[in-house]
Amino acid sequence: MIDEPAVMRTYARYPVTLVRGEGLRVWDDAGRSYLDLIGGLGTLSLGHCHPEWVEAVERAARTIGMTSNLVATVPQAVLADRLAALVPIEDARVFFCNSGAEANEALLKLVRKHALREGRPAIVVLDGSFHGRTVATLAATGQPSKRAPFEPLVDWFRFVPPGDLAALDEALAPGDVGAVFLEPVLGEGGVVPLSIGYLRGVRERCDAAGALLAVDEVQAGAGRVGEWLSISLAGVRPDVASLAKALGGGLPIGALVSPAELSFEPGEHASTFGGGPVPCAAALSVLDVIERDGLLGSVRSMGALLRREVERLVPAGSLREIRGRGLLMGFEVAEDLDATTVVHGLRERGVLASTAGTGVVRFTPPFTIDAGEVDVAAKALAEALAEAAA
Ligand code: PLP
Repeated sequence: MIDEPAVMRTYARYPVTLVRGEGLRVWDDAGRSYLDLIGGLGTLSLGHCHPEWVEAVERAARTIGMTSNLVATVPQAVLADRLAALVPIEDARVFFCNSGAEANEALLKLVRKHALREGRPAIVVLDGSFHGRTVATLAATGQPSKRAPFEPLVDWFRFVPPGDLAALDEALAPGDVGAVFLEPVLGEGGVVPLSIGYLRGVRERCDAAGALLAVDEVQAGAGRVGEWLSISLAGVRPDVASLAKALGGGLPIGALVSPAELSFEPGEHASTFGGGPVPCAAALSVLDVIERDGLLGSVRSMGALLRREVERLVPAGSLREIRGRGLLMGFEVAEDLDATTVVHGLRERGVLASTAGTGVVRFTPPFTIDAGEVDVAAKALAEALAEAAA
């Protein structure tokens, strides 16, 4: 393992230094190979070094350098068109940035501006949510321990428990709410999909209250659950959406998608790096491969297979719940078990996974995972759970 004394310790790192990857396989500096179910924390939609993604990135890097947003580029224009067509938002406009937090920061500024104009400045957000580490996105994050060291933060937000329409009614009752902002599948909060009934209820209430429904699709969007937006699983159309992670296939890109009428005016928001030719070309290759290879269907079928295999193989009583949609899967371990111990056990069996929320083992593999790899993952999880319980 490489020594890295100069790296700031913002993550509790695994004792592994990875040096190479191909598909779902990665190798460490001692030559050991792992099945990578972290997938760059959900960013690696096509796996490591997918040939078409590599070719698109290389070609873009050879063609032109960074341009600035003072001029147009072909990859950005084409990607914006593609996203506007894929996402169920009418007459959509796209703003590009470099991460999930930045996409949400832009989204929050956009909806706040609209909300202020409408005289309803409050934004409703969910307990247990995660929207990023910048100041406004952290303020919107429903995890008090993450906010506490930095408070007071931005005071735009009113928190409600997820899944509780009566609580939402109460939050909307004063008539001062301009937007509801939520993750249709809470990711970092422990992989908690919101029910179809709840999401439809939120849409109805937003319509009745004249509030925007804004969705954080950073983790669950861009194909991760087998739809371009995870809220589409509930048949609900949002007003505004943010995307990042899987969109770039490993290069940093975030996107805010909103109707033309809500767009920022020139000078209201910007990003120097946002929408550069290389990350846009990478994202275009991700969309191309997903469409050409029918990967949205595969995400759904491999996600379902993973769930079935885990249900079949894991020792009785070792899991409290299996949650998730598509290839955003969370396995909540029994109360007397520790998710970090299970993740350690997986690593010893050559499988890399992450934790989410409290007591949840999370898999966010590339969309290219196949049935054999699902089998390896489910068997390793069953063994790691059995070992943790022993
Ligand atoms: N929103 C959601 C739902 C996320 O899961 C994350 C990251 O995990 C973010 C926002 C922040 O994204 P980033 O780490 O790219 O800033």
